[in-house]
Amino acid sequence: MGIQKQNDAAFISGEWKDKDWQGRAAAHHKGYARLLQKGKKNRILKQLPALHEEAFSVINCLNCAACCKNYSPRFKTPDIKRISKYLGMKESRFIDTYLRLDEDGDYVVKQTPCPFLGTDNRCGIYEVRPSDCERFPYTNEDVLINRPRITLKNATFCPAVFYVLEQLLEDKQVE
Ligand code: SF4
Ligand code: SF4
Repeated sequence: MGIQKQNDAAFISGEWKDKDWQGRAAAHHKGYARLLQKGKKNRILKQLPALHEEAFSVINCLNCAACCKNYSPRFKTPDIKRISKYLGMKESRFIDTYLRLDEDGDYVVKQTPCPFLGTDNRCGIYEVRPSDCERFPYTNEDVLINRPRITLKNATFCPAVFYVLEQLLEDKQVE
C-alpha cells in the first residue's frame, strides 16, 4: 500500500462523510475522464476486483446510502415480478404504488429517497432488490470503463467509485 493509498484509506474509513472527498473528486474530474477514455483497459480491468474489495473494506454503505437517497434504480420486468411476489402484491398494484416511467421508458421509483430505504439505511427488500442495486456502483465490472459518463456521475456521490478511480490514477502504468 503506497502512501497515497494509506492516506485514502484513512481519509475514507475515518470520518469520511465529514471530509471533502467530493471536492477532490471534482478537482480530479478531468483526470478520471482521461483515464476512462484513454487508459489501458486490460490493465484497469485486472485491478478492479482487488480495488473493489479494498474500497468496500473501508467504506460501509450503511453509513452512506447516497445512491438510495438520491437516485433510482431501473425496475426491469424480472425485478418487478420478484419484488411484488416478495411483498405479496399484484404486479400492477406494485407498479401503481411505487413506480413511474422515466424519459427512457424504464420504471423508476416515483420519488427519492427510495421508498424501500429504512431510516437505518437498510434496504427493506435487500434479498430481492433490483439488479441495478445489486450491481451498483459497478466498481468490479467493465461498465466502469465502458460507460464513462455514468462512472463520472457516480464519482460525484459514491465514495467507493471515488476510491477506485483515485487508486487507478495513482497507477502511472494505466495510461
Ligand atoms: S453511494 Fe456508494 S458507498 Fe454510498 S451506499 Fe451507495 S454504493 Fe455504498
Ligand atoms: S431497492 Fe433497496 S438498494 Fe435499491 S435503491 Fe431502494 S433501498 Fe436502495
